[in-house]
Formats: sequence, C-alpha cells, structure tokens
Amino acid sequence: MLGFGEGERLLLPDNLTDLFSVRFAYMSDSLSRKHLQDMDIVLVNLDRRSGLAARMASIQASSSAPLPLITFGASRPGIEVFQDLKPIGHIVPPLDASYLQGLCDASVFDRRQILTLDSQRESVRRLWELSSALLRVTRREQLPQALGTIMPELMKASLVSICMPETESPLIYFWTRPALGQEAIDLLEAHLEESWAGVRPDVRASFEWVEKLEIAETRSPSPTISKNSFISAPISLQGRPVGFLTVLPLEQPRPSEDWLKTFFVVSDLVNVLLHNLDLRDQLSYRATHDGLTGLLNRQSILETLEKECRRARRYHGSVTVVMVDLDHFKQINDTMGHLMGDEVLRQSTARLLESLREFDIAGRTGGEEFLVLLPHVDGEGGMTWARRFQSLLSNTPIATKQQQVEVTASCGVASCTDEDCHVDRLVAMADSALYSAKNAGRNRVTLADARHVPEIVTPSQANHVPESDFDEDTV
Ligand code: GH3
Ligand code: MG
Ligand code: MG
Repeated sequence: MLGFGEGERLLLPDNLTDLFSVRFAYMSDSLSRKHLQDMDIVLVNLDRRSGLAARMASIQASSSAPLPLITFGASRPGIEVFQDLKPIGHIVPPLDASYLQGLCDASVFDRRQILTLDSQRESVRRLWELSSALLRVTRREQLPQALGTIMPELMKASLVSICMPETESPLIYFWTRPALGQEAIDLLEAHLEESWAGVRPDVRASFEWVEKLEIAETRSPSPTISKNSFISAPISLQGRPVGFLTVLPLEQPRPSEDWLKTFFVVSDLVNVLLHNLDLRDQLSYRATHDGLTGLLNRQSILETLEKECRRARRYHGSVTVVMVDLDHFKQINDTMGHLMGDEVLRQSTARLLESLREFDIAGRTGGEEFLVLLPHVDGEGGMTWARRFQSLLSNTPIATKQQQVEVTASCGVASCTDEDCHVDRLVAMADSALYSAKNAGRNRVTLADARHVPEIVTPSQANHVPESDFDEDTV
C-alpha cells in the first residue's frame, strides 16, 4: 500500500512502485496517524525541504514502533535510509531492481539489515571493478596489478595467491598483509600440496617457493589458523586443473556463504581470463610460427630481421644472416614420399637449432629453406656457423622409420653494417650467395660480396613492415 499526500507527486522512478512489496507510506503533512499505523516504511520527499525534521519526528511519534524512513527526491540522487532519525544508509543510482526487491522484501527493516545490504552493494561494486580490471588484462604479467588492487579488500583476505605449478613461473601473484608467521607459511604449503595431490595425483608439484615468502618477525597474535583455513579454487585450462587461486579469509574459522559465493565468482572470472589469455597465446603462436618445424614463419623472421637492421642503423652495428637451403630435397620427397620428407625437415631443423647459440634466431622462409639471423656476428662468423651446421647435418645421416637419409645443405652468408642494413638488401645478397653455392656444386658455403649487391627487382612489399610498428624501446 502506498499513501499519498494531497497534491503531491511521487518522484520515484516509474518502475519503483511496482518493486515495493511491503506496505509504505508516502509522507505528507496530511497523512494521519491512522494511516501510519499500517505502514512498515515511510518515504520522505526531500524536495519538500520545509519542516523536514519536524515531519520526520512527527512520523516517529505517530507510530507505535520506530519506523524506518526512506527519503528520495530530485534534489538528492538516490534513496537515503534513516532509522531513529539518523541516516543509516544511502542507495545511489543506478538502482538495481533485485537490490531494491531485496530491500523491500525485508519487512522488518532494521539497521543490521541495511548495513548488510550496504556491504553487499560494496561487494558488488568491487566485483564489478575487479571484472573491469580483468577485462583490460592482455598478458599474464598484468594479472598481479589487476588482482592486487581489488581482491584483498573484496575478499577481506590476509593472503591472496595464484599458483600454477606446471608453468615456468609457477607463482603468478602473491599478496599478504600482514606477513604470515612461519607456522602459517608451513600450513599454506601443506594446504597447497594436499589440494594439488587431490586434483592432479599424476604430477608431483613442488611448492618450495612458499618458503621464500616474507615471514613476520614477531609472531603476531594472529587468529588460530589451520591448513583448512586457506581456501582454494582450482584454475583449469582446457578442462585440466593447472593451479589454484588461494586466499586466507580474515573471517575465521569459516567464512560465510556469501563470502564463498563471491570467491567462486572471482575464481570463475580468473579462470575465464586465463583461458582467454591461453587461447590468445596459442593464436599468436600459430600466427608467428611454422606448424611443421616450430620455427618462426617467414613473416616473423623478416620482421625480426627488420628490427635488427634498424638497431644496426641506429647504433652503427652489424647484422649477419645465413640463408640455408637443403640440397636436392625434391628427390627425397620423390623417392620416400612427402611424409618422410616432412620428417627429414623436422630432424634437419632440430640439428639447425642444436647448432645455434642463445641469441641466434632461425625461421623457415620456404619449403626447405631457412633464414638464420646471427646478431653481433660478422661475415666470417657467419661462415663459421654455416660450416659447423653443414657438418652437423651431413656427418650423420638422418634416421627415419624407413631408412637413413643423407642430407646436405647449401648456405649463403650476407653481412651488413650501419646505414647499409636493410632487409631487402640483406636477403637479396644472401639469396645470391646461396645461388652461387648451389651453382658451385651444393653442400658448400658462400659469402656475399658486399660490393656487388644484386639488383632488388621488387622489394618484398608483403614483408615490408612500417617502422612505426616497432616498439622503439625494444630495439
Ligand atoms: P636444390 O638443391 O636446387 O635446392 O634442389 P631441391 O630439390 O632442394 O629444390 P627444389 O626447389 O627443386 O625443390 C624443393 C622441394 O621441397 C619441392 C617441394 O616438393 C619440397 N617441399 C617444399 N615444402 C615442403 C614440405 O613442407 N614438406 C615436404 N615434404 N616437402 C616440401
Ligand atoms: Mg633445395
Ligand atoms: Mg629451395
């Protein structure tokens, strides 16, 4: 029931009246004591400022029990909730239908309920902030920042961690406040080990990193915790558990249902995010790598070379490349079939990688053709590497299921320094040197003559990358 004062217009949003299921009074000077007795909550129009305090006092005096008052009005956005004439809560727009419904369903409207609703609203706001922050995450490394600013407060936790034991960096994020005592650290380790054994008995994981956590010097009078005080939700990738999101709630021994619900919403968000990041990584890997050999594809190796050339031009450095082409590969395909040809390509790639050093980069530029980039190496150094690779390839035949295959390669080495470093120029030189090596009988290495740069007929526009596409800092 809604009571209306004479000549007054209800300033609540249209749909709001439908939402109220409890009996309400709309306060007005003309509202009688009799009316008020039937009301659970009283609405006060703040736009009618005059005599507000007196009106509220009179309402309280008129009712047998203290009545909660809800104020509204165009002059002040939202709804303010009073009890005993004191404001005890303020609901700001946008008004959420279910929230209001919950508010109205509370037929006994006491301070505690209001505060609960208020804290729920706070949780929803933080959850929304967290999901917005997670939406902006495009790389795993950004996850700590996104989680760290919101999650401890949202989960009212003294510890938040994500660990993925199988990945290279198993610990993605750790947050503790205050630092845990040694005893708690041991319990955390035990908790993680037990949880991991529960979901992945097939893989032994070590949680030794837990010991590296900051340990509180003085044993603070922390609440008694056990290993069950830590709460973990699994993180899964492609349906397989790969780690945990773990928290230590301040609320002990056991957090409330609502807390648990929020935690599982958060873990779902993190799961979805990690899944998307993983898909993104896979896509980007496929876009930049060759499926058969796992080397960088043509586009990527040329982009990498472009970066190296720019670096050389700017810092007066040098770049050396080696173009490698397997000899008479067509024959291998023709006599043994394409599948065996593929196998030979894979094994030749393995030998190529074996011959490279940490900072050397290789790509597959064509069927049986590779481009190797040797940073900080001159032409002679390029020749040395090419000869070493040739021996590694030809000294031992490649063993396939069918037979042993003798494989050799021809190499064209090209070098440039300073202002001469341009991808098209370098590739044309290496190509021409390779052509010479083939003509000279194959299985040999030729160094391009920098004084006779072959005419570049069509600069490979498709592979040309505009300079602005590169990140200056990484160059
Ligand atoms: P050369 O010594 O002059 O380089 O002779 P070649 O036979 O190696 O050169 P050619 O360019 O005539 O032949 C290359 C062959 O490589 C032709 C093609 O069938 C084969 N090829 C290209 N890509 C692949 C691949 O992905 N898998 C397999 N099995 N063969 C491939
Ligand atoms: Mg060939
Ligand atoms: Mg070829």
